[in-house]
Amino acid sequence: MSGEVLLRAERLSKEFPVSDGIVSAVSDVNLEICRGETLSLVGESGCGKSTLGKLLLHLLTPTAGRVIFDGTDLSSISPKQLREIRQRMQIIYQDPFSSLDPRMKVGDIIAEPLKIHKIYSDKTQLRRRVEELMDRVGIRRAYYSRYPHQFSGGQRQRIGIARALSVNPQLVVCDEPVSALDVSIQAQILNLLKDLQGELGLTYLFVSHDLSVVRYISDRVCVMFLGRICEIGPADRIYAEPLHPYTRFLLDSVPEPDPEQRKEDRPLLEGEMPSPMAPPKGCRFHTRCPRAQQVCMQDPPPDMVEMAPGHCCACHFPLSE
Ligand code: SF4
Repeated sequence: MSGEVLLRAERLSKEFPVSDGIVSAVSDVNLEICRGETLSLVGESGCGKSTLGKLLLHLLTPTAGRVIFDGTDLSSISPKQLREIRQRMQIIYQDPFSSLDPRMKVGDIIAEPLKIHKIYSDKTQLRRRVEELMDRVGIRRAYYSRYPHQFSGGQRQRIGIARALSVNPQLVVCDEPVSALDVSIQAQILNLLKDLQGELGLTYLFVSHDLSVVRYISDRVCVMFLGRICEIGPADRIYAEPLHPYTRFLLDSVPEPDPEQRKEDRPLLEGEMPSPMAPPKGCRFHTRCPRAQQVCMQDPPPDMVEMAPGHCCACHFPLSE
């Protein structure tokens, strides 16, 4: 990993009390995001990746550990300071249908964060800023007074992006931003995000359940299983030489777009997905891992071991051995 660290998570954990116990959604996560990079956080539904994204923005309070954003420990500042710092960290949600208020005009939706953070007192300047954002994301200015239901899914996601960018953030968490869209529209939104990153010098944390979606936009990829990070590294290495058996499985299960090349026998993981209320002893993946041995059932793997520059893995028997 190279570059200046913008955000650092140290031993971050989040537990949720439920009626019959405690769900450990994120467990002991260490992570760094560098200025200007796209780090993708990937794993199956329920692995804790969206919770981790919200913890990094302090939209959720961690049970343990801390987040340091641009040198500031977010757990040690006042609510007022946290509100100020939030302006520099924004989130784009998965579902553009439910994340936009259906009763608000599009111009007002984009202007909302600017009003909350009191960035413009002058209405003309505010309007000009909103129109500039609409240009930037490809929404016609003439649609300023339209309502969300008058737009397609892709256009609504563009509106969500304009709203997130309105306050000039440094870090944007993109939480499954294209999962609800058609494949052809997905590419347009990913290209827009990439272009905006180049123009504005943004840093992205891109949360996705799908390794194929993040392939062409990621500088680094971080793989999570059951609340823990199991592998992190440069994107090209993760795709070419994964080290963790779970990453290998995720890559093998990406559907092949060409029907001629499609494998009939796509791999299936054996066994049930373990419960985050009672994670397995030893390695959390051992109940499903084809490489598991006795030690995996008893001892958790060592903390992330760097096996190539910037490429780290937590496994007793990584695939390179
Ligand atoms: Fe599989 Fe063992 Fe590695 Fe866990 S530690 S992923 S069970 S080989």
